Amino acid sequence: MNKMTVRDVDLEGRRVLVRVDFNVPLDGASISDDTRIRAAAPTIAYILSRQPRAVILMSHLGRPKGERKAELSLAPAAPALSAMIGEEVRFAPNCIGEEAWAAIAALPEGGVILLENTRFHGGETQNDPAFARRLAELGDIFINDAFGAAHRAHASNVGVANVLTAVAGLLLEKEIDYLATALEEPQRPFVAILGGAKVSGKIEVIGALLGKVDHLLIGGGMANTFFAAQGRDMADSLVEAEALEIARDILASAGDKLRLPLDQRIADAFEPNANQRVIGAADDVPAGWQSLDIGPATIEAYGAALRGARTIVWNGPMGVFEMPAFAKGTFALAKALATETANGATTIIGGGDSAAAAEQAGLADQMSHVSTGGGASLELLEGKALPGIAVLAER
Ligand code: AMP
Repeated sequence: MNKMTVRDVDLEGRRVLVRVDFNVPLDGASISDDTRIRAAAPTIAYILSRQPRAVILMSHLGRPKGERKAELSLAPAAPALSAMIGEEVRFAPNCIGEEAWAAIAALPEGGVILLENTRFHGGETQNDPAFARRLAELGDIFINDAFGAAHRAHASNVGVANVLTAVAGLLLEKEIDYLATALEEPQRPFVAILGGAKVSGKIEVIGALLGKVDHLLIGGGMANTFFAAQGRDMADSLVEAEALEIARDILASAGDKLRLPLDQRIADAFEPNANQRVIGAADDVPAGWQSLDIGPATIEAYGAALRGARTIVWNGPMGVFEMPAFAKGTFALAKALATETANGATTIIGGGDSAAAAEQAGLADQMSHVSTGGGASLELLEGKALPGIAVLAER
């Protein structure tokens, strides 16, 4: 990576302003998945080991749209982080102004504080320079570790980096290393798996990956749109009518690199206990039925395509994995990836739903890397420059 990191700068005696991604799912006031906080902990521990004056953490949470919303307070993240790093983590009820200044001034030497949700201010998502300066004045140097927000040009990641010296945190560095390296110099065979609901959000990533991979395996709702583009009747399946044209173009240009499911698990309702059966790829989906997962022949064939691969990138579930009845394809592929990791492959899960699926399958720790950013990892895989990374100091 050609960006400077937290290891390249002097932190001693300085107020270190850190953009973390604590955009975690909440269940009331309790955090239902603390993966993102856990992922930032090594960076914070590293900064603390360099004797800073203070560590000042900021993040967004959800979409409060510039208003203070009690249910989107970051307060629950402070004790969660504290338990992970074994240090007190204080909380400031505002990310700018007197409340932030006073809380920071009251910190003991080397203290850690988390500021309230940056999106309680409209200036955050507008990347307002005045708001960015108010955040920036709280620190002497800026560390960006928020990979999950790196595809957005907001005040707390891009605006602040225009004011302070800005370098990457350890998590950001790791994300870039895995995702960018996989694309730039993949060990072959290189196989990508794409699933999820829609083709439309993934057209660019399909194009970028087709230029790099040896095989691109398609599953999930996205496969339905490709089948419909081939003229198959998909009945009640999720099909994106407005993406049929582009799906046809992709099929025409992809050649045999792009593979579609050989069979599908269909159901007579979008419900956990719906009647279900498996049909082949040449069969129309009967009226009133819909395709909700890949079938056993596809699991077998995709597993075979993954065997012996040296690099595997996966984004998007193979079916409606939120319902156990339609999670078989997704979980089987997660298992296949874990096996290939053990065989020496580099396996990368591109955040979002596929990361959640690997977690649910209990296999996340058997992957080489599970990204903390869904949207950001997709954009990196598309080969785009992410604004939150572009703005960091070059080595
Ligand atoms: P995405 O955000 O595009 O990665 O889509 C993830 C969502 O796609 C998950 O919530 C899945 O339930 C859903 N999904 C996957 N396969 C299907 C399918 N065959 N039909 C409908 N939804 C699906």
